[in-house]
Amino acid sequence: MTVLDASKATEYLKDYKSKDGLDIKSLIDSANFGGLTYNDFLILPRLIDFPASNVNLETKLTKKISLKSPLLSAPMDTVTEEQMAIHMSLLGGIGILHHNCTADDQAEMVKKVKKYENGFINDPVVIAPEVTVGEVKKLKEVLGFTTFPVTENGQVGGKLVGIITSRDVQFHDDDKSTVKEVMTKAADLITGKKGIKLDEGNALLRKSKKGKLPIVDEEGNFVSLISLTDLQKNQSYPLASKSYHSKQLLCGASIGTLQADRERLAKLVDAGVDVVVIDSSNGSSLFQIEMLKYIKETYPELQVVAGNVVTREQAALLIEAGADALKIGMGSGSICITQEVMACGRPQGTAVYAVSEFANKFGIPTIADGGIGNIGHISKALALGASCVMMGGLLAGTSETPGEYFYRDGKRLKSYRGMGSIAAMQQTSSNANASTSRYFSEADKVLVAQGVSGSVVDKGSISKFIPYLYNGLQHSLQDIGIQSIGELREKVYEGEVRFEFRTASAQLEGGVHGLHSYEKTLHN
Ligand code: IMP
Repeated sequence: MTVLDASKATEYLKDYKSKDGLDIKSLIDSANFGGLTYNDFLILPRLIDFPASNVNLETKLTKKISLKSPLLSAPMDTVTEEQMAIHMSLLGGIGILHHNCTADDQAEMVKKVKKYENGFINDPVVIAPEVTVGEVKKLKEVLGFTTFPVTENGQVGGKLVGIITSRDVQFHDDDKSTVKEVMTKAADLITGKKGIKLDEGNALLRKSKKGKLPIVDEEGNFVSLISLTDLQKNQSYPLASKSYHSKQLLCGASIGTLQADRERLAKLVDAGVDVVVIDSSNGSSLFQIEMLKYIKETYPELQVVAGNVVTREQAALLIEAGADALKIGMGSGSICITQEVMACGRPQGTAVYAVSEFANKFGIPTIADGGIGNIGHISKALALGASCVMMGGLLAGTSETPGEYFYRDGKRLKSYRGMGSIAAMQQTSSNANASTSRYFSEADKVLVAQGVSGSVVDKGSISKFIPYLYNGLQHSLQDIGIQSIGELREKVYEGEVRFEFRTASAQLEGGVHGLHSYEKTLHN
């Protein structure tokens, strides 16, 4: 065999009919005996000629909303309430508040996200002047902090009458004394005026030589607090998702398709929600189509994500009814038993490709929802045409999720449950209807579960975990030789980015193997 000229190796590539690996369509067709999951394929590496930090992860959430990072937290009652939504948004993604609660509670959560200002505590524990010193000492034990603004009615918004700190109560032996007897009175306090900028507040704090600066409105009503300790650990959030005009954090919320959801929606809109997600396991229903049309007529500016869908035919119905984005997934969630029980669903890789390829032709962004278990799954979802991913299980167990940690078998755990689990559906029937309506079960005498209830290990704060996902994603795209999500989509559709089907043994090979034991630490 003639030995070819090594200096012309790249030229000889022309002798091959096609590039190494499969284009996206051939990959999907290669599985014509069944659908593909994220684990069934790999993306082939390409030339790296830029640093990972150059990779831009900006993307579209809906027709009109862009995000700096393609990450969403799921509207589940063990995943997204205001703390998760605030931090997802600060870190460049967005949180979708669940609706397994009353409309008022959900609207209140939206307000907290919209009112959030980095460095300001808008929702501190406030006490009334009649509270006793003993009670303050107990609060300190439970909450771990000791400075409380005191207002006439004991609430945020009430007239500020003073502030009480640990120094005021520490050596005060008479636990029956009231706060108003020992607090520093409002007249002796330095306060900031509502609307003050963080750096001005910071300067006042230094001047007052106190740990906390209360912020009051024109009438002296207490509005918020700036805390020195928070200022010292104050991070900056260059990726934060903010509305263009108000500069407030972006906030999403889920709703159902019942008549009562129209009232819920009105409250969410009043509270300032930026995007609503119509939450249904099967989005192609007349209920959802009617709801979509109603929202578009009543609130033409509001962005609406419709779903879930897994086929082109389902997608077409919702696109026609006015969806601003589509959510894809049926049965791929980590807590989900839909495919088992309903015989319905689709492997997520194929579903994301089929729906995104169709929706993208109409300029409708898609969200790959469920089954995201690691960074590689996020890259694959984006390569298959999704603009964003939605995560439940991957974020469950972080400190920003609702619920308390508990210990079992020596492990620190938090609950994570499907919205179609019996537990979630039963909680619902007592005060709301989110879960049953998601599964069209509100009239059922016997509830048929489509999800399970479980627990996950403590993952720490998302303020470390989301940057880990973000950086990891930049490195993953760098390996594919791609510098932005838009470029990824283009090069996939053009056949430049190539794929490989992954056999069962290839999957084994791609995991850790052959070790007696090992520890898997994902980030520092
Ligand atoms: P995960 O990220 O794999 O844990 O999946 C989360 C997604 O599963 C959610 O965003 C929902 O689309 C879906 N989901 C939530 N609850 C249930 C359920 O009870 N059954 C089926 N799917 C669910």
